Order: sequence, then structure tokens, then C-alpha cells
Amino acid sequence: MQKLKIYNTLSRQKEEFEPITPGYVGMYVCGPTVYNNVHLGNVRTFLTFDILYRYLTNIGYKVRYVRNITDVGHLVGDGDEGEDKIGKMAKLEKIEPMEIVQRYTNDFHHVLEQFNFLPPNIEPSATGHMVEQIEAVKDLIDKGLAYESNGSVYFDINKYNGEGNNYGKLSGRILEDLLNETRELDGQAEKRNPLDFAIWKKAAPEHIMQWPSPWGMGFPGWHLECTCMSTKYLGKQFDIHGGGMDLKFPHHECEIAQGVGLTGQDPVKYWMHSNMLTVNGQKMSKSLGNSFLPAELFAGAHPLLDQAYSPMTVRFFMLQSQYRSTLDFSNDALKAAQKAFRRLLNGFRVSKTLVYSENPEVAIDEKKKTEIEKAIEGFYEALNDDLNTAVALAQMFTMLKYINMLYMNQLQPAALGRETFESLISKFEIFFEKILGLKEEKAQNDEVVLLGMLELYREYKLNQQYEKVDQIRNYFKANNMVIKDLKHRIDWAWEE
Ligand code: AMP
Ligand code: ZN
Repeated sequence: MQKLKIYNTLSRQKEEFEPITPGYVGMYVCGPTVYNNVHLGNVRTFLTFDILYRYLTNIGYKVRYVRNITDVGHLVGDGDEGEDKIGKMAKLEKIEPMEIVQRYTNDFHHVLEQFNFLPPNIEPSATGHMVEQIEAVKDLIDKGLAYESNGSVYFDINKYNGEGNNYGKLSGRILEDLLNETRELDGQAEKRNPLDFAIWKKAAPEHIMQWPSPWGMGFPGWHLECTCMSTKYLGKQFDIHGGGMDLKFPHHECEIAQGVGLTGQDPVKYWMHSNMLTVNGQKMSKSLGNSFLPAELFAGAHPLLDQAYSPMTVRFFMLQSQYRSTLDFSNDALKAAQKAFRRLLNGFRVSKTLVYSENPEVAIDEKKKTEIEKAIEGFYEALNDDLNTAVALAQMFTMLKYINMLYMNQLQPAALGRETFESLISKFEIFFEKILGLKEEKAQNDEVVLLGMLELYREYKLNQQYEKVDQIRNYFKANNMVIKDLKHRIDWAWEE
């Protein structure tokens, strides 16, 4: 099996990947808070874990991939105060919170499908795990690590650290600094320490989403839902937990505290964080007003764009950088990505037409053979090195060079020998399709091609070239279509 190294945010170094149970991988990725359309920044993070999931599966692991839907508890501002993001939208639009949830869950799925993401094995939602969350709160109170105050329940940071733990170890935050950063907010008075975070919040009467609990009507904290859903499906200790860099603190820091508090064990072996997609150096985010919706990109309908870009072009663009570096979004970079992606796509198309033929008169070209073998190995080495998709793509362009030479008859298949030839073709296809998740894209508009064919048909008919006329008719027929010779125009229709 390939030896994968991944950068663990917790240890701050690349580590050899060894799953807890050999051969099996449990992987949890924080899903979206479904109160608005996913933007391209979100897409970048989910892409990182799509590649990881594909790669782990491809190299032989059995992966259970869990990605949740946050449908309650994530408050405006990401802290313990403010309205629930979904509840707020529901009020604004005067509809049920679950309508907001459904609308944006549908959007999320639709967008991810357009980008050719594989669905997770389990997609749990926070509102579907209320019992587990209430049980976890009770358990933390019983263990003396949480306390009730005015109908809310808070995690006790002093108590936790007093037991030899280190709140802040993931994000590298220092408690004194955190304390200085903490503003005087409403509700802080309820806490023993301003750093304590809510695991259950009392709901004000006007708060729409609320559930009965031993502490009165309320709703669970955002951090607790991920602890409950990840450990329910992956066990109290699992292999990989991922999300965007901005989730390190407070979200994932709190998840570690809750996990350790509940089970006495660190919940996650490898923490992975994807870096941000930026626009002019600034994080892309809805609240900063610099976000791009995938639909705007596919339609070219954005003031910063001068054309439309297809989903695969955007996917390729994102793969050109390793997930831990920032990636800046620009029209020029997309244009370059479009060109490069099309070169690779053309290689993918022609690779399917290449066949090996023996030729005893052709000598083996050792140099080319070695270069191809090195490129294939280099692809794996790049992904093994903390998923370096940028270097992996560079190796594919070396492979592409030989595929094009074969296609142009500048290189005889026999010069590579059967084994290298076949591995070049099959690996290129696996890398392109299965591991990087790229795919052939249909012509932007099939209608344009059809109209061009009808134009030819009209010309052949005028010139009485009936053999050609029949050829075109047969082509349409083979596709369940017929050509209509109307008096005033030539058109096509579905064969009835
Ligand atoms: P949210 O719905 O805001 O919780 O975000 C869903 C996921 O997208 C989280 O893992 C975030 O870390 C990630 N994310 C948000 N903005 C960006 C960005 N500009 N670049 C990369 N990932 C992002
Ligand atoms: Zn989460």
C-alpha cells in the first residue's frame, strides 16, 4: 500500500498515516451551515476532502466518510451570542426553519454534484441527533466539566485545564491572549470564566428552534453537534477530522475539549485543515461581500469575470495548488486553468483510442520508458506528500506529452514495451477520472452543433449529394431524432 504522509494540525508536522484499525479509515468533515448558498470558498474545502476520500479509497483503504449538515446551533458570529443563522433567515423570509434547511441542503448537493464530488457515506444532521446531544451535556455535567447557569450549560475551561488538559493546543492559542481578546458580551455574566463555551443554550421565547431538555427549552451548541455525530458513527476515537482553517478555533478546539471530557481520550488522530480561497488576498466570505456563487461562475455573470467557466475548469484551477496554501481567485488564473485543463482533457479523450501493437523492428526507448515510469511514481509520491495535487498535476503533464506523441505517431507503442504503454494509458485515466475527479464535459451547447449539421444537410440537398444527405439523416436517426423538411425551414424533432 502507498505510504501517505499528512500534515497534522495538532502536532504541526507531517506524519506517516497509520489508521487506528489497519485498512479502515474513519473520516469526518464539518459540513455546511445550510442558511445560504455555498460559495466557491466552501467548495475549495470540500474539494480537499473529496480528493482525500478518493485517494484513500483508490489506494485500497475502506473509508467511512461522514459529513454533517449543520441545521441548528451555529450562531451569527460563531460564538455563544447572537441569533441562530438558520432561525434568522427563517424569520427574514417568514418561512419554516426546515424550509431554509431543505432549500440550502438541496443547493449544496446540487453544487457538489456539478463539481463531481463523491457523496459521503453518512450525512447526519444536528437536529436529528438531539437525544445524543442532550445525553452528552448530562454526561459532561456529571463529570464535573460543565455547569448549568440560567438555563444554559457551559463547558468549564478552568476545570478541564485543571485536570491536566490544554484548551488551545490545536489552534496554538494562549489562554491569557484569549482572555484579553474576549469582549464583554451579553451572557458572559452567566459564565464562570469568559472562555467557557456553551454546549446547551437557553432559548428566548421568540427563538424558533427549541427543544425540551432537563435545563428547560433550548438548543444545542454548534461544537457539540460535531462531537456527537462524529463519535456516534466513527467511534470515540477516529482517524481524520477535517474542515477549513477558520474552523480550528473555536469549533475544533472545543470539539477536542468535549471529546476528551466525555471519554478521557483525544477524539481525533489526524486533524486536517484546508486553507482559504481568497479574492485579492482577502478570505472569500459571504459576510465580506466578496464571494462568488458557482452559478455565477458557470454563467460568467459576475463583474470580476469576463467569461463563463465550466465546473471542471474550476475544479482543475483549485487542484493547481496544494490544499494548505492559500489560493487567490482571479479571472486570469481561471483563464490559464481553462487552457491547461483542455489540454489534459484532450489527452484523456485520445488516450482511449490508443492501442498497443507489437513491432519487432522498433527498439525499446529506455529513456522515454524511464521518464514515464518516473512520472507515474511521481504522481503517487506527490499525493503521498500531504496531497500535493499541484505536483501531481505536473506529473500528469509529463504523461500527457507521451500520450500526445503516441497519438501523433511520433512514438511507436512498441518503443515503450507493452507494460509501460498500458500502464501509461490506464494510470492516466485513473489519475484523471478516479483520483482527481475530473471528467469529460459536454459541449456547452449541443444545439449549436445540431444547427451546424442541419446547415450542411441543407447544402448537400441543394447540391443533390444524396449519399451525404442520407448519412446525416442516419446519424440523427441513430440518436432518436428525425430531420424535418418543412416548406419554410429545416428543423429536427425527437422521433415519435
Ligand atoms: P460554513 O458553512 O461557513 O460553516 O463553511 C463550510 C466550510 O467551508 C467550512 O469548512 C469552512 O471552513 C469552509 N470555508 C469557508 N470560507 C472559505 C474560504 N474562503 N476558503 C476555503 N474554505 C472556506
Ligand atoms: Zn463541525
